[in-house]
Amino acid sequence: MYSKEERQEITRRYRDLLKVWKNRSTPEEAKMVRQAFNLAVEAHIDMRRKSGEPFVYHPLEVATICAHDLRLDTTSIICALMHDVVEDTDYTLEDIERLFNPRVAMIIGGLTKIKGIFDDGTRSIQAEYFKRMILALAEDMRVILIKLADRLHNMRTLEHMSREGQLKIASETLIMYAPLAYRMGLYNIKTELEDLSLKFTEPEVYHHIKEQLESTSSDRDSFINRFIYPIKDVLSKFEIPYIIHVRTKSVFSIWQKMQKKNIPFEDVYDIFAVRIIIDSVFENEKLDCWKVYSLITDIYKPKHDRVRDWISIPKATGYESLHLTVMSSEGKWVEIQIRTQRMHEIAESGFAAHHQYKNSQDEGKAIETWLTRIREQFQNPDNNALSFLDNFKLDLYSEEIYTFTPKGDMRKLPVGATALDFAYNVHTEIGNHSIGAKVNLTLVPLNHVLKSGDQVEIIISKIQKPQKIWLEYAITARAQNYILEALKAEKKLHYKEGREKLQELFREIGMEYNKQHVKKFQEYNNIASTIDLYYEIAMGTIGIKELKNCCHKIERNPWFNVLIPFSKTKPAIPKTLDESITERIKNKPEEMLLGEKVDIEYQIALCCNPIPGDDVIGLIMPQKPIMIHRSNCKIAIDLMSSFGKRIVKAKWNKKDPILFLAGIQFTGIDKIGFIYQLTDIISNKYKLKIRSFHLDSSNEVSIGKIMLYVHDTKNLNDLINDLKKIKEIKKINRMNPV
Ligand code: MN
Repeated sequence: MYSKEERQEITRRYRDLLKVWKNRSTPEEAKMVRQAFNLAVEAHIDMRRKSGEPFVYHPLEVATICAHDLRLDTTSIICALMHDVVEDTDYTLEDIERLFNPRVAMIIGGLTKIKGIFDDGTRSIQAEYFKRMILALAEDMRVILIKLADRLHNMRTLEHMSREGQLKIASETLIMYAPLAYRMGLYNIKTELEDLSLKFTEPEVYHHIKEQLESTSSDRDSFINRFIYPIKDVLSKFEIPYIIHVRTKSVFSIWQKMQKKNIPFEDVYDIFAVRIIIDSVFENEKLDCWKVYSLITDIYKPKHDRVRDWISIPKATGYESLHLTVMSSEGKWVEIQIRTQRMHEIAESGFAAHHQYKNSQDEGKAIETWLTRIREQFQNPDNNALSFLDNFKLDLYSEEIYTFTPKGDMRKLPVGATALDFAYNVHTEIGNHSIGAKVNLTLVPLNHVLKSGDQVEIIISKIQKPQKIWLEYAITARAQNYILEALKAEKKLHYKEGREKLQELFREIGMEYNKQHVKKFQEYNNIASTIDLYYEIAMGTIGIKELKNCCHKIERNPWFNVLIPFSKTKPAIPKTLDESITERIKNKPEEMLLGEKVDIEYQIALCCNPIPGDDVIGLIMPQKPIMIHRSNCKIAIDLMSSFGKRIVKAKWNKKDPILFLAGIQFTGIDKIGFIYQLTDIISNKYKLKIRSFHLDSSNEVSIGKIMLYVHDTKNLNDLINDLKKIKEIKKINRMNPV
């Protein structure tokens, strides 16, 4: 609950936010911000910060940083206000999506994931980990920007933390967040983060430099006044509208300089820089800046190797300015920065500041442009980048995805892994008892395919047991092995029950129950082991009907009556599909014909998508249509080990003109027109229907996957050979069975 004073303070802070929120445009947007504010006030009603203040001050301050320092858009302010709501209160992402929109929910979802991973007080995160994760988690760059604002406010209020917590957060900020801010062109935020970090990691150094700065400030002020006087004079004379700011170096960068050059505070010559910000129209900016340069160097001599022209070639962050160092009449070097108002805004608040949106349609576009620019930067680090960020690349070629437990533990899984794979990766028992999962707080089935950055919570039930169908859900060997093991154990449980039931059945039809007869019955059903036989009987898949048919056959074929001595050796479980096929053909030479007009019900296995022309086999599963797999399909091989000889050799009926789904994958150079050529061949030359098309492009390399309907292997191979002729394609092949 809030006290009366606290309510007033909340309202005051909200008004402050509205005051600095310059980008607001429509009444609807104002209404949404109000709604987000109300929701945050209500959701955090029972929460306090370490300082004892109402928690809601924090999101209000974060939103203010977003609006004022970063000049972000309305969506960002709404998200900043609610950034801790999903993590800390009963509100869910679905609620947010319902009350606001999917984009807001997506950004808050991203912030919640990052919080779970990076802000868990018990864990010390590695820079490497941070690097890899932050881009993977942030589908929208606003997630990172709001995260920076969040971190800045936490740093500003760090004194309430324990000493241990202060050290951890401060050093993390220095190593990770400050370089991140720098890379995004957010110089003010970077500077403040660094100074605050130093304040907590090396309080003595910080306070010493701070004191020195203060005690020398009046001397400095009078020196600066003398120094800029002639500059002001000449600017007025030439009627150039200007403002002069004096920027004192940050405590942190003074400290860096002192350490690097091994000098005391007094010897740091560039404690401050003089910033001349002129009014200029966009077309004349460059000329006007150099005009000022020329006027200044008429007064003071420049140091020839200290001119930095970031107007002709802006920094990758978008920073534009003209820097020079001149000799003052008192024999001291002074740095001068010349820039226009527009350049100044970019330097102060990041590129977003430049877009003082005229209307709300432009807003989305402008911020997107800026965000894209930052993203590009992340992906193409230049040589000047801080070493930490040098290899800050999102690895699009990765064969692995990075997923997280609700507590933020990272789980590496292969691409294509499902929630079930995740469950077995966490623990066998969790896998064995899983019934579903929550991925990013949304309920999904066990066969849900995971993406990098997903946070996965497995839902378990004590009474759940591994199911046969799970073998089709899981793609990791680990999960499949455990499932097979559990299925085997499950079968053993039914051993006795099945055996008793079979004895009963034998008695019913008046046949002697002995090993030879059981073995014959097992062979009749094409079952690999007696365990499997008893299991099928216990489950009721095989019963009196099969036994009668078997006996009938035995009576009709005296050959079967020849007493086969019971072999002591166990029936070997076929190891490879080839062996199984050979064995099967020996017993049952007829083949199954696949095509449209066949009596037997069959299905094409999705794991390997066989098409006419492929070597295929049919797998007989109890009470299911026969599954047709490619004979090199790994899943089929695994299934074989549990279903033994229940396999038929299948063959395609060539007369049927049917279409089958097949996949091709390729790697190519991303040039304009390349995708057109590709689809042109598929659609126009071959007249094939594309079902799906996925393309990942990065650094001019594209990796693509196409699922399409083809007639047979010849058709597919012809197509692949034609596509190979496109010169941008470096590698292309049919997708292998998973
Ligand atoms: Mn927060």
